[in-house]
Amino acid sequence: MYTLGTGVGSGVIVNGDLVYGHDGFAGECGHTTLIPGGRVCGCGALGHLEAYCSAPGMKRTAFELMAHYNAEDSMLADKSFKELTSKMIYEAAEKGDKIALEVFRKTGEYLGQGLADTVHHLAPEAIFLFGGPTAAGDYIFKPTYESMNRHLLPIFKDKIKILPSKLKLGDAAIVGASALVWKELEK
Ligand SMILES: [Zn+2]
Repeated sequence: MYTLGTGVGSGVIVNGDLVYGHDGFAGECGHTTLIPGGRVCGCGALGHLEAYCSAPGMKRTAFELMAHYNAEDSMLADKSFKELTSKMIYEAAEKGDKIALEVFRKTGEYLGQGLADTVHHLAPEAIFLFGGPTAAGDYIFKPTYESMNRHLLPIFKDKIKILPSKLKLGDAAIVGASALVWKELEK
């Protein structure tokens, strides 16, 4: 499970159980190195997946692309760095904005590369995607799936599902927190 939001969170479920690791932090897939020497991640390290595939990562990609193409005619060009959101990028993509569409293509490319690493480590049946940017549906799922398959060993190609989470957006944190309480009570 990968969740795209202000950061990129992830969790690993094996035989129905969440993998905690020895002290509860297993599955920090957002902090795997995607681009050596790349963007500064929220954690301070360089080139982590989170710096590319989170909602702020998409915004950073949008500004890079606008600078690259000098895209003054993009619908995103009037937004300040502070105000641009992944939702605005989605809305512009819906209207056919080339920069916005390219942001989704690139984000999917980055994410698919990261998911391929996860597949190589774990050989999962499926990877669920959750979080604001995943509301964009095919804009994000399609390039992610294509990129993942391109980066996979032949033995995994076209075998791993990427599925949208059925969890409601606002519910994740409270469901997770409640589950932790139950886990403590079980001890
Ligand atoms: Zn990081």
